[in-house]
Amino acid sequence: TNGRRLPLIAGNWKMNLDHLQAVALVQKLHWALKDAKHEAGTVELAVFPPFTDIRTVQTLLDADKIPFSLGAQDLSAHDSGAYTGEVSGQFLAKLDCRYVIIGHSERRAYHHESDEVVAAKVQAALRHGLVPVICVGETAEDLEEHGASAVPVRQLTAALNGVAAGADIVVAYEPVWAIGSGQAATPEQAQDVCAKLREVTAAAIGGDAADRTRILYGGSVKSGNIAGFMREPDVDGALVGGASLVVDEFAAIVRYQ
Ligand code: PGA
Repeated sequence: TNGRRLPLIAGNWKMNLDHLQAVALVQKLHWALKDAKHEAGTVELAVFPPFTDIRTVQTLLDADKIPFSLGAQDLSAHDSGAYTGEVSGQFLAKLDCRYVIIGHSERRAYHHESDEVVAAKVQAALRHGLVPVICVGETAEDLEEHGASAVPVRQLTAALNGVAAGADIVVAYEPVWAIGSGQAATPEQAQDVCAKLREVTAAAIGGDAADRTRILYGGSVKSGNIAGFMREPDVDGALVGGASLVVDEFAAIVRYQ
């Protein structure tokens, strides 16, 4: 990262931890990170629990003055109405969610979310004052056929279609082959794609906004490899799945260096 952007370490819990387990994890994490630099405001920590945990985590963060940011893992492209099973961005905003993950590869793969759906969800997030964490990344086949950056560049270009100049967004580059596989990209690979994604961001929302935008790497981030990613100039943090569920491991990632 570079000094102009506040690093963001984000824990994507996926479909893990009920609301009681969520309380235990957040309390332990807060304890493990007492005196750590996130308390000093030099790194931002965010947790992304399942929907059913969000109210509980919100009240805990508020009551115990725990300085973690809160986000959801998805939202509806619509604001309200006859959409059974969907959750509106306005409900998330009311629960003090600052962020919402959009277009995670698991949603693209298992819920058939197209680039158009992702773009509509980005618009919905921005309408409700949420910061979209826009996930992009190539599969192993894409990598072989088109190289690393072609698919992420296409996905981000589509997601930012219609987004106003100066918008507040976060981008997460997550190669699909690296997610949950134990085989992370190298810092150099991540830097190369993240730099291209910053160019896409600049073209869409302007150079100043792109300069402010945090671009994260995700995919098998662990305490043992985080520092290498954070040394890259265009990698401003990490989106962490499996390792965000293990207190000591996630705390060590937040304390990277
Ligand atoms: P992982 O998941 O850290 O378990 O690889 C990352 C993600 O899917 O966001």
